[in-house]
Amino acid sequence: AWTRSKPPLLRFLDNCLNEFSAETSGSVADYIPELSKADPAYFGISLATLDGHVYEVGDSRVPFTIQSMSKPFVFALALDLLGAGRVESAIGVEPSGDPFNSIRLNSENHPFNPMVNAGAIACTGLIYDSKGADAFEQIRLALSRFAGRDLAVDEAVYGSESQTGDRNRAIGYLLKTNAVISDNVAGVLDVYFRQCAVLVTARDIAVMAATLANRGVNPVTGEQVLTPYAISRTLSVMTSSGMYDYAGEWIYRIGIPAKSGVGGGILAALPARLGLGSYSPKLDKHGNSVRGIKVCEALSSHYDLHMLNRS
Ligand code: GLU
Repeated sequence: AWTRSKPPLLRFLDNCLNEFSAETSGSVADYIPELSKADPAYFGISLATLDGHVYEVGDSRVPFTIQSMSKPFVFALALDLLGAGRVESAIGVEPSGDPFNSIRLNSENHPFNPMVNAGAIACTGLIYDSKGADAFEQIRLALSRFAGRDLAVDEAVYGSESQTGDRNRAIGYLLKTNAVISDNVAGVLDVYFRQCAVLVTARDIAVMAATLANRGVNPVTGEQVLTPYAISRTLSVMTSSGMYDYAGEWIYRIGIPAKSGVGGGILAALPARLGLGSYSPKLDKHGNSVRGIKVCEALSSHYDLHMLNRS
């Protein structure tokens, strides 16, 4: 329940929490066995503004694994570490319309874009080829700078995905045989599984999103995490491919660059305005959090935030 003394934005988030808690459709991801243990009742929302204010309601401090929300950040890191030319020659930027785990490559035998598994594994592979054993630590540190705090790995989820991740391994070998990644596939996949198992909260995701919305400057710590070039290209691929095979519908209806993960998180970054993080584990048939989508729809319509409806 909210009171009149709360800031309007907090009242709005409280209302979202109360209204959308009633939504119980969808199902918790279970193809990574450890993920199926998530409590479907969890629901947290956080919104960070570019002046460094962070608003939070519900289970905004409950940790969950970042999963595919790591993909935009690792793409941005690869652009800055390896140079745009290297990354852009190996990974496309076209939407695929395929599910996240599609094994299909484009006509050049490269991944369609960095938001599907093939493209994300390729990004991680490029970093691994250049940094070797240090690759995961570089990724973890970059994610931590986006969040403004030191992030850790959920070892149980990492182990569970590593044990059952043969489809991603198959994608890795396909990338190797097409010379997209050169080094040892097992090593690359180990880094990818760890990167997906990094623990975040809805609050962290809001700050990470706000850093994307703020040309790469974390609005809470003031740190320039990556270059504006890397950030604007990352927002571009989030816009066209961030929401699995719902990406077109998403940008049409909601109009905010976003990325979701099968752990139940949604990250939305509206350039020059705000970052949103939400966490609720039940997913729809595209793999997007059911309640998270409702929150983003409500935010976009209530505050008239569609990115192509600006003056
Ligand atoms: N670790 C997951 C996988 O590669 C990430 C999937 C996702 O969040 O979309 O299957």
